[in-house]
Amino acid sequence: MGKDSRRLYGRALSVLAGGVNSSVRAEPSPYPFFVEKGDGGEIVDVDGNRYTDYVMGYGPLLLGHDLPERVAGAVQSEVARGPMYGAPTEVEVELAEFVAEHVGSVETLRFVNSGTEATVSAVRLARGVTGRDKVVVMQGGYHGAQESTLVEGDAESPEPSTKGVPSSFARETLPVPFNDEGTVERVFEEHGDEIACVLVEPVLGNNGVVHPVEGYHETLRSLCDEHGALLVFDEVITGFRVGGLGCAQSVVGVEPDLTTFGKIVGGGFPVGAIGGSAELVESFTPSGDVFQAGTFSGHPVTMSAGLETLRYAKDEDVYSHVNSLADELRAGMTDVLEDYAPEYTVVGVDSVFKTVFTRETPESLEGACVSGCEQRADCPRYGTCPKDAGDIDDAETERWKRLYWNGMLDEGVFLTPNGFESQFVCYAHDDEDIDETVAAYERVVSSV
Ligand code: PMP
Repeated sequence: MGKDSRRLYGRALSVLAGGVNSSVRAEPSPYPFFVEKGDGGEIVDVDGNRYTDYVMGYGPLLLGHDLPERVAGAVQSEVARGPMYGAPTEVEVELAEFVAEHVGSVETLRFVNSGTEATVSAVRLARGVTGRDKVVVMQGGYHGAQESTLVEGDAESPEPSTKGVPSSFARETLPVPFNDEGTVERVFEEHGDEIACVLVEPVLGNNGVVHPVEGYHETLRSLCDEHGALLVFDEVITGFRVGGLGCAQSVVGVEPDLTTFGKIVGGGFPVGAIGGSAELVESFTPSGDVFQAGTFSGHPVTMSAGLETLRYAKDEDVYSHVNSLADELRAGMTDVLEDYAPEYTVVGVDSVFKTVFTRETPESLEGACVSGCEQRADCPRYGTCPKDAGDIDDAETERWKRLYWNGMLDEGVFLTPNGFESQFVCYAHDDEDIDETVAAYERVVSSV
């Protein structure tokens, strides 16, 4: 942070709403840092400060800030041919083939331009093919800035979670607590023939990291089958991050009808996608009758970046590298917490991590899951991780900001300002970054 960021924020405030183009970027107060450039696993601000970056663009940057030569080369040669055409290109087909080959439930895709657009289109598809209107979502889940899911409360009294969403829209959304089989069963008993889909992140990534309890997704799967609803996995965060190229669904072991993707599948460029069986996804226009379109969809630059990123991840064993570094990081952070703040918990899976903390220490937060155990009964720490949004909401947001955001930022470590979002290890990080981060974490935690 420094005078150049402060000056730019001043200018930004007069021409951009809130000074930013995505609300999460306005923190920390009194001004956010403005970025000069990325450099491997680091980010450099306009005042020349360097930070080890675990925000990683909120997830898309699996490889870090420096694109490997083959990715950069593919992107540059696309740009050299012209930015986009409004007509199909080979690279869209190649990326779709790659995704269909690696993700078990996906035969056919439609690419769009953001995770939000993917979930909007998936919900429209589910409504279109079932002829029903209601959508079940998880409390604490996030599916982008879209009308059907910016809803809070419970299935009895859903309310818009922001101004601008009509109450009549919110009434079509049924929020249920994640991991609570009884509630979702009751909601299906009451509304079974009105539910178009259940939309769920296979592992909650926007509300701490919350793993599914054993059997939860199987229950959702059978409720959907029994009642003729679609199961939609929102893999915008987890896709090509958790479970490697098979995505989180390969770990969870349940096949959704539809999957939404975003972030990594575009290699750092704007992207979203909806995938599923050919029969379902062909319900989009022009082959079907659920309208879907987009000027920039399947953008050749994005498609090349996504394709070469995923090919690189496959060829270079990127997932072993990032997952084992994140294991080390979670273990190191857990050791620090055991010494200084045992009421806090480090959660995560594969290359995703997060500290969850609370003053009260509900029983479900005792101990720490460092293994990404997905709450399986054979995990030595089974039963000690957060299980739903309620556990996470008990976390102390203020403490996150003061200690982990400001404290870690002062130490040169960039974490999400928002205490609920996940942090990511990338391929450009190395053992030294992890050691330095754990040492910084210890200094910050011990200074409380
Ligand atoms: N779904 C999930 C699970 C997400 O985490 C996000 C964004 N973080 C979205 C959808 C929306 O994606 P986008 O911001 O690209 O619109």
